[in-house]
Amino acid sequence: MTPRYAYMNGKIVPWNEAQVHVFSPVVRYATAVFESIPGFFNDGQINVFRLDDHLRRLDYSQKLMRFTGIEHDIKEGIIEIVKMSHPQDDVLIRPMIYLDGESLGGSIGSTGPGSLAITVCSVPKNVFAESGCRIQVSNWTRISDNSMPARIKATANYQNSRLAEMQSRHDGYDGCVLLNTLGHVSEGPGQCFAILRDGVVITPDISSDILESITRDTIIKLAKADNIVVEQRNITRSELYTADEAFYCGSTSAITPVVEIDGLPVGAGVPGKITSRLKNLYKKATTGETNPEWLTPIK
Ligand code: PMP
Repeated sequence: MTPRYAYMNGKIVPWNEAQVHVFSPVVRYATAVFESIPGFFNDGQINVFRLDDHLRRLDYSQKLMRFTGIEHDIKEGIIEIVKMSHPQDDVLIRPMIYLDGESLGGSIGSTGPGSLAITVCSVPKNVFAESGCRIQVSNWTRISDNSMPARIKATANYQNSRLAEMQSRHDGYDGCVLLNTLGHVSEGPGQCFAILRDGVVITPDISSDILESITRDTIIKLAKADNIVVEQRNITRSELYTADEAFYCGSTSAITPVVEIDGLPVGAGVPGKITSRLKNLYKKATTGETNPEWLTPIK
């Protein structure tokens, strides 16, 4: 459903008025960074998940882009637009900092001050089937740290994701995983990725050209607390085909089992036991049954 309002630079505006100039740096050069923060609806309120961690990531995304800052308080803006939106279901809260105005001079090096927009949208339903998804290894390579760091959440990075996503759909898969320039597994177009071998969760480490995913970090913490061993290291392609279980993780898709890679079944070709266990642990954290410190309630 189309939201009724958006937050733009300190004001709540009707959705249709949330606009930028067609000649702005953000349109011409994708000079924008953003976050996608899950808010879980429970008992009449939205519990925002790991808000400060998302805002910290937004800060370092801005820093890397050499943005000179914004005039408005992002947390206050989030609270304001969530209240105004009166959500009755789970939402994704998306603050975006972008360079607006006309860029007639054509400088690709403009730095700000940035504009702040925040939207609150429903979570896309059934992105992936509960029964798990069938993915391919993309033949697009993940952007590398020395060209376009995947670590930050810059809108421009999603060109790479988009090419991979479109190819996998065209080829008849539900998704894909990209290899980085070294040939190691990095992540999906909009999700982090992990495999399980002999009961150990193995996920690419943070120098594998991945976004430093909050969900990935959450799962690592929950798994360790549950005495599940986690390794963060390079994963080579052939390990994918010998995994017992595999899953995607991210704010939109939570934990999604991957049951087939390049036409080969992962384990028995059905969602794995430990993946399901982690899914439950994640669910408990998002409802506040465990780790209430991760939730910021907005009424
Ligand atoms: N990688 C990419 C490229 C993403 O877009 C996302 C979604 N934000 C993720 C990983 C998962 O990150 P998070 O758990 O913070 O949503």
